[in-house]
Amino acid sequence: MPPPIQRNSLCYLYHYQFVRSKIKSPIEELIMNLMSTAVLDDFANLSPLLRIDLHSHTTCSDGGLSPEELIDRASNFQIDILAITDHDTVAGLDVAANYILEKNIPIKLIKGIEISTAWQGFEIHIVGLNIDIKNTQLLQLIDQQQEARESRAIAIGEKLERCGFPDVYHKAKERAGAGTITRAHFAKILYQQGDVPSLQKAFDKYIGKGQRAYVKPNWCSIKQAVEVIHAAGGSAVMAHPIRYDLSSKWLRRLIVQFKEDCGDALEVVLPQMAPQQRDLMLNYCLEYGLHASMGSDFHYPSKWSDLGRNLKMPERASPVWHLWAEPIEPIKLC
Ligand SMILES: [Zn+2]
Ligand SMILES: [Zn+2]
Repeated sequence: MPPPIQRNSLCYLYHYQFVRSKIKSPIEELIMNLMSTAVLDDFANLSPLLRIDLHSHTTCSDGGLSPEELIDRASNFQIDILAITDHDTVAGLDVAANYILEKNIPIKLIKGIEISTAWQGFEIHIVGLNIDIKNTQLLQLIDQQQEARESRAIAIGEKLERCGFPDVYHKAKERAGAGTITRAHFAKILYQQGDVPSLQKAFDKYIGKGQRAYVKPNWCSIKQAVEVIHAAGGSAVMAHPIRYDLSSKWLRRLIVQFKEDCGDALEVVLPQMAPQQRDLMLNYCLEYGLHASMGSDFHYPSKWSDLGRNLKMPERASPVWHLWAEPIEPIKLC
């Protein structure tokens, strides 16, 4: 007698085929019929076969690809679920969603944002996932953050002017186009002009914390970001906790604060990360009852990281998507 067919196995196969080819062989038709009667609690059990990337950027902030180009790249990389999380803006999300619809691309778009916050003199990024981008509180916070960005950019431009780089603000603004202006735009201008040998050097020498053209940002608090993300129906994720250059004592303080402020998840998996760092983040999640997220923080194609690359949710983690009531679209057919 053949072994019984596992419902989840059918789901895996069904979803795999749906996303990858949409070609229905007789066996797939059979699976579809079986699946139509199956009920799933959530899509967590399907995640091993899904390619999920919950952190990426477009030209609407400091990314190198337009929303459409990003979706095309995600499609080429066979990403199943992609969150676009531009800095303090949701401008790319409708464009991306319409493009997916128009081209019938089998990608589930998670609407997101990455909010800059200030904590103890550090800039901490809080990603909001699965948000309602029309929420009034969210739109108000975006306006407030954009104003803070604009006045900071003007002040950075003035300081750079005093360092001997005229008109950098306008050049950076032009470079940002309709998108959100960030320090990365200033770095790109200095690099292009040959004033610094690399983008990182622009930060190390001029616009990074404590340097000659550094301007303290006037961001919202972590609490405010988390509250607004929740008001917009989303999950609040602390982005790249390992990249804040904090000692372990300060990192723990930050995570305790985030938890106190009702944050939901830590970004536990990033593309370039030592296994010990990932384990440390996972242990923080388990210790403080936080969920786990994963994302490439993709900005532009590079040889070091790309959409969905090296992202695998650890088995012991409770993925952030457990918090979402809505399963991904293809599985709605189950
Ligand atoms: Zn970030
Ligand atoms: Zn980011």
